[in-house]
Amino acid sequence: SKANTHNGYRVYEDAMSEGFSAYLTLGGGLRKAIEEGQFELFYQPKVRSSDEQTVGAEALIRWHHPDWGMITPDKFIPIAEESGLILPLGEWVIRRACEQLKLWQEQGLTPINLSVNLSGRQFLQPNLVEVVQQILQETGIDPKYLELELTESMLMSDVNGTIKKLHGFREMGVSLSIDDFGTGYSSLAYLKKFPIQALKIDRSFIQDLGADGEDDAIVKATIAMAQSLNLKVIAEGVESRQQMNLLTGYQCQEVQGYLFAKPMSTLDFETYLKKYQL
Ligand code: C2E
Ligand code: CA
Ligand code: CA
Ligand code: CA
Repeated sequence: SKANTHNGYRVYEDAMSEGFSAYLTLGGGLRKAIEEGQFELFYQPKVRSSDEQTVGAEALIRWHHPDWGMITPDKFIPIAEESGLILPLGEWVIRRACEQLKLWQEQGLTPINLSVNLSGRQFLQPNLVEVVQQILQETGIDPKYLELELTESMLMSDVNGTIKKLHGFREMGVSLSIDDFGTGYSSLAYLKKFPIQALKIDRSFIQDLGADGEDDAIVKATIAMAQSLNLKVIAEGVESRQQMNLLTGYQCQEVQGYLFAKPMSTLDFETYLKKYQL
């Protein structure tokens, strides 16, 4: 998209249409928001297809703006990326997720796997592996419960550097998955070289499942390929029982989507877990 630069923030067309001054305020407010702790993590369940039990969750950030209410990440993650504030913000997300995992373990809830999204700039941070290790040590979380979601474009920008970093995480015991799979341009040859454990099929392929023969073919082929590479597959954005039935038929191991639950606050997620977990 076309972009202008103002005060160091890149201003995109869609943001412009919402009001230039409002957008700048958003950028300026971000630093203050980090200092004042206006962020919260929401959690969306990851459901195992075979028995529909919740086996994990994805942490998704929300910003509670004092004047504008709740702001979703698509509005402020790009600004945080541009300004570099994604580094402290991203670190806060990982720490908060690990602290929450610890609290759930202390409450005696069945341990679940919690995944966190990384941004491009955050992934390029040279000491990222050490930062994550430090947080795991401080919070006392078994690394096997933490999963990092990476996108294809993040992985493909510097393949050799990426492979090293991914091995660093694997040696620690952290799980790795590729988010929005199918929307980027990762080569299958590289996919084999990355020490990852799961693929998340992008919602755009799930949306018309059952109605669009091509999407069905793509999803089936992706699952078959993943199985042959020993990767777990998670379908994103599952909204209907029909989609769910098709995915189960295609042997997709896990799903996420509004059919089961939207992302929820900590309290709502705890209530959900007590109800839907073995
Ligand atoms: P994502 O990682 O692909 O996350 C999935 C998005 O799809 C979430 O939007 C989620 O609420 C939404 N979703 C889940 N199930 C359904 C469904 O059945 N139907 C529909 N229509 N949507 C569904 P959300 O929370 O607004 O997050 C948007 C994006 O912002 C995320 O996409 C991710 O790329 C980014 N993001 C969220 N939290 C973080 C974070 O802590 N750090 C970074 N770097 N990025 C984040
Ligand atoms: Ca994600
Ligand atoms: Ca995704
Ligand atoms: Ca997505």
